[in-house]
Amino acid sequence: MKKSIVSIVLVCIFLFSLGFAWGDNTEEKTDNSKSADVSVILNGESEISWICGIPFEDPGYTAYGMNGEDLTEKVKIKGECLCWKVGDYELSYMLMDGRQVVASATRLVHVIPAELPETVRPHRTIYLTFDDGPCENTELVLETLAKYDVKATFFIVAERAPCHLEILPRIIAEGHTLGIHCYSHYIDGLYWDEASFFSDFMKAQKVVYQYTGTYAHVSRLPGGSRTAHNLIITLENGYDQLREMMHNMGVRYYDWNVQPETYESTDGVEYLFTHPDKDYDFAIVLQHDTKGYSVLALDSMIQWALKQGYSFAPIDLTTPEIQFY
Ligand SMILES: [Zn+2]
Repeated sequence: MKKSIVSIVLVCIFLFSLGFAWGDNTEEKTDNSKSADVSVILNGESEISWICGIPFEDPGYTAYGMNGEDLTEKVKIKGECLCWKVGDYELSYMLMDGRQVVASATRLVHVIPAELPETVRPHRTIYLTFDDGPCENTELVLETLAKYDVKATFFIVAERAPCHLEILPRIIAEGHTLGIHCYSHYIDGLYWDEASFFSDFMKAQKVVYQYTGTYAHVSRLPGGSRTAHNLIITLENGYDQLREMMHNMGVRYYDWNVQPETYESTDGVEYLFTHPDKDYDFAIVLQHDTKGYSVLALDSMIQWALKQGYSFAPIDLTTPEIQFY
């Protein structure tokens, strides 16, 4: 009895292992038949996570024909990864023969929120900010700041000529913050809807990366956030949603509370800082390196502020946002 049980068990083991062997053969056959097929092969995983705010780069793909010939150029991609918006995006890579899809592969991209550090409330600190550059005055701004070892923030227009953009690495090397103002300063088109706004932002981000090898994490909306009215009415939760979307991208945007250029001069800067109705313990100052008179006034502004015991700092992600809404 015992012997017969042992032999049954042995027969089972034998049949079981045979099953595996057959299974393996079947799989091999399938693989062989696949390699002879027309196919689209993805580089990397078919499901990936991507941090929101980083320009999306497809890991790539290759397509093969019946005889193993490279047909990658005949692949069309359906779908788009909106790297500026948290969500799931499906990309289909379709190998076309005329209008026929002869093979395809799909990739799922999870765009996940970036992380932001907590903000820290500064004390008697001035954040000088310069919009709309870089331009022919930017070098003088840098020299004046260097004279007093003062650090500032530059919100750039990324469609500036390459001869001006070449100063971007120097801005970073000298300890200043490089922020994004926009790619194109055409306000009507920029704020048409979220796609217009964020596409422009990502275009600027690519330019920053091209010239500096890093991405920007602070921003100022062209005209300030109150100008973004058109964009805001297209968002269900208005400014709260805009803020949240930018935070998801790892970006804070800053308006200002001191604008010394109001009257086409900077004479009023002392008045603006010491106005009894305003709390300028923490000041974000709007200037433009495109406005020559503002650049020329910088030296005396810094001298005045240092005498008052202010310190200067570049904006970073720990700087609390000053926003109009
Ligand atoms: Zn501007």
